[in-house]
Amino acid sequence: MTNWKDNVRRVVPYTPGEQPKAKVIKLNTNENPYPPSPLVGKAISGVALDSLRKYPDPSCDLLISTIAKYHNVDKSKVFVGVGSDDVLAMSFLTFFNSKQPILFPDITYSFYDVWAELFRIPYEQKCLDENFKIVLEDYKATCGGIVIPNPNAPTGVSEPVEFFEEIIATHPECVVIIDEAYVDFGSESCVELTNKYDNLLVVRTFSKSRAMAGNRIGYAIGSPELIKYLSDCKFSFNSYTMDSITLAAGVASIEDDEYFKARVADVISTREWTKTQLEDLGFSFPDSKSNFIFAKHNSVNAEYIFEELKKAGIYVRHFSKPERIANYLRISIGTDEEMHTFIEVLKEIL
Ligand code: PMP
Repeated sequence: MTNWKDNVRRVVPYTPGEQPKAKVIKLNTNENPYPPSPLVGKAISGVALDSLRKYPDPSCDLLISTIAKYHNVDKSKVFVGVGSDDVLAMSFLTFFNSKQPILFPDITYSFYDVWAELFRIPYEQKCLDENFKIVLEDYKATCGGIVIPNPNAPTGVSEPVEFFEEIIATHPECVVIIDEAYVDFGSESCVELTNKYDNLLVVRTFSKSRAMAGNRIGYAIGSPELIKYLSDCKFSFNSYTMDSITLAAGVASIEDDEYFKARVADVISTREWTKTQLEDLGFSFPDSKSNFIFAKHNSVNAEYIFEELKKAGIYVRHFSKPERIANYLRISIGTDEEMHTFIEVLKEIL
C-alpha cells in the first residue's frame, strides 16, 4: 500500500539571509540602508482604514501605469507581483515548460535552482569563468529558457546590453529572463530591448534601490504577449497578490525620482569608498556594480571573518557552497557610518 508521503512534493527550500532581532549592523541581505521616500510614508498613512474592507484592485492599474510611464513603455508591457521572487517564480511556471533544460550560471541567485526543482523544470548550470564572468558561448545552444541576473548575484559582476542582446537574438525558441534586481546601482538595463525582442522578460524590484524590501513589490517588462501569458498564470493562482497599501506605496516611490536618485548615488559613493578600504586591508573582489561587494581576503579565512564580525554585531553573508565561493563574503553596502564601523572592526579582526 502506498503512503501519502510517497505523493508529497519534496523540495529543499531557499534559505533567506538572517533577520536578527537585536540591533546589529546588517550587511547580509542587500537591503538599502536608507528609508524609502517620505512620500511613501505619506501614501501609506493616506490609505483610509475603511478602504481595507474591500479587495485591492486586481489589475494593479495605477501602479502598472506609473511603472510603464517611468520606463516609457505601454502598460500592456508591465506585470507586477509580490517582490521579484513572486514575479520570477510565476515566470518560471509560465515560460519554462520545455523538455530541454533551462540555463543559468553555477554561481548566481540561489533561488533559481529551487524554483526549477519545485516546478520540475530540467536545468543546467553553466560555470562562470575564473573572474566570475559569464561565458557567452555557454548560452548559445538550443535550450528551454535562460535566466541571468545583471549584475549577477552574489558576484556583483555586470555585462553590457550587447552581451545580452547576442544571447536573446540567438534564442527565438525560448524566453530569456534578465533579472535586474541590482541594475540601478550602475549597470546597463535591457528594458529597451523589449521593444525589439518578444522573447525577453526583464524583471525588476523595489526591494533594493527603492528601499522597499518590506513592501514586496517586483515587476516585469516584456512584450504584451509575454505579459498576457504571465497574467493568465497569475490569475489562475491568486488574483489579489498586491495589497492596497503596497500599491499606494509603490506609486509614491516612483513619483519621488529626486529622492530615489539621491539615495542610489549615496549607496554608490559609499560602495566606492568601501572598495578602496577593503583593498587596503588585503581583500580582492570582482568589480561590483551593485549594492554589495563579493570579497575574499588574501590570507584570512572567510568563515573566521564572518564569525568574528557576527560577534561584533555585524552581519554579512557567507555561502559555503559551491566550494569555489566558500572563501568569499558578500558584504552589502550600509550607510557611511556603518561602513566606517565595519572597516574599523575588520582591522581588529585581521
Ligand atoms: N533577484 C536577485 C538576483 C536577488 O538577489 C533577489 C533578492 N534576494 C531577488 C531577485 C528577489 O528580491 P525581491 O523578491 O525582494 O524583489
